[in-house]
Amino acid sequence: MVRDPLIFAAISDLAGKMRGKAFPASKLEKRLRSGIGWVPTNALITCFDTIALSPFGALGDLALMPDLETLVEVDFKDGGPQERFMLSDITTTESAPWSCCTRSILKTALARLKDCARVTLNAAFEHEFQIANGAGTPGTAFSLEAFCDHLEMGETLMGVLDAAGLKTDTFLKEYGADQFEVTVEPQPGLIAADQAAILRSLTHMTARRLGSEVTFSPITDPAGVGNGVHVHMSFLDADGSPVTYDSNGPAGMSRTTQSFVAGVLAYLPQMLCLLAPSVISYARLTPHRWSAAYNNLGFRDREAAVRICPVMATDPSSIARQYNFEVRAMDAAGSPHLVLAALVHAGCQGIEDELAAPKPSEGDLSELSAGALADLGYVRLPQSLAEALTAFEADPVVRGWFPDAFESVYLSHKRAEIEYVESMSETDRYSAYSKIY
Ligand code: GLU
Ligand code: MG
Repeated sequence: MVRDPLIFAAISDLAGKMRGKAFPASKLEKRLRSGIGWVPTNALITCFDTIALSPFGALGDLALMPDLETLVEVDFKDGGPQERFMLSDITTTESAPWSCCTRSILKTALARLKDCARVTLNAAFEHEFQIANGAGTPGTAFSLEAFCDHLEMGETLMGVLDAAGLKTDTFLKEYGADQFEVTVEPQPGLIAADQAAILRSLTHMTARRLGSEVTFSPITDPAGVGNGVHVHMSFLDADGSPVTYDSNGPAGMSRTTQSFVAGVLAYLPQMLCLLAPSVISYARLTPHRWSAAYNNLGFRDREAAVRICPVMATDPSSIARQYNFEVRAMDAAGSPHLVLAALVHAGCQGIEDELAAPKPSEGDLSELSAGALADLGYVRLPQSLAEALTAFEADPVVRGWFPDAFESVYLSHKRAEIEYVESMSETDRYSAYSKIY
């Protein structure tokens, strides 16, 4: 049968979904120049496809401007069609970045980092996901059996990611029921976020081609573990030399790293609604789940919001190259672009305000009273999306990192999501999110 190949111009939107429009591949040149029409109110489409109260209504026009650098063309070689899609920026009709374009918001944050610290960011997103409706067989954590049961999925996924230009790192059967993890190598900030969005889409496509379904939902069962997104970060100077590490710095942190991490921890409660943006995200961010419940730094401690990761080397230059820290509070309900933008802005704020190095926490913070926590400079992170949105709304510094219209759009969007799931039973709510992510 005759087919005309289509390319999907996607954005990773405020709901963490890839949405957009397709055009014939033969018209690529034209679409790279003139874009494709888009509508402001689309930023108010929640993950459940309801439309939140929109300041734009039916008015206005925007353009999706596809970025050729991000073109993904994958042939699964299963007799089915090739997948073709690319990431886009959203611009106004005058070609200016639009206020709710997550990719443009990230570009602004990365430019701020270059300005304030003369460094560039390398980042690697780690993703956990689950086989939807899996058997939940016990005794399979990290096991060879479960790995082999899903070997076709693992090998196809790695092949597909490789074909899409991602540098694959590991695939493993995680601890949770039917839970897997896929990691890729670090990339410069914007590419890392683009590839995180691409990885989620390709993982779903791979599962479907194999007659299965996966979910990146932040948590599928409140009694089980969550599906985290952890972002590893490190810095390079203008010559491309690593500058994250200093052998004399606290926990090995360079001056830039110290203030950057201090900024991330100081603003974590107020920016959490961007990092953990679903209603159920907050069931994951509870103590003893190896996620993040406090704004603490951990030295190789997985119960910390930010963790200094181990280095497998002894010679100074390898240590400097490997040294990185990991932020653990995120999940895949968030657009990787918006998540990374918030983290980078918080880090820049820490650098500009010359915040002092945080001290790694010790012991189990959940055993401390609120007073004892406060004495150590820690807070329990917001425990619901509503609370997190209020913290964001109340903080002029965090709001100031984003374009003017962003705040009201984001708050309206997320409050509509809360309203949508409010009347659902707990079971229905978890299952609704499982289907979405
Ligand atoms: N599943 C944990 C989370 O929700 C992370 C476990 C780990 O890989 O350390 O973030
Ligand atoms: Mg993991």
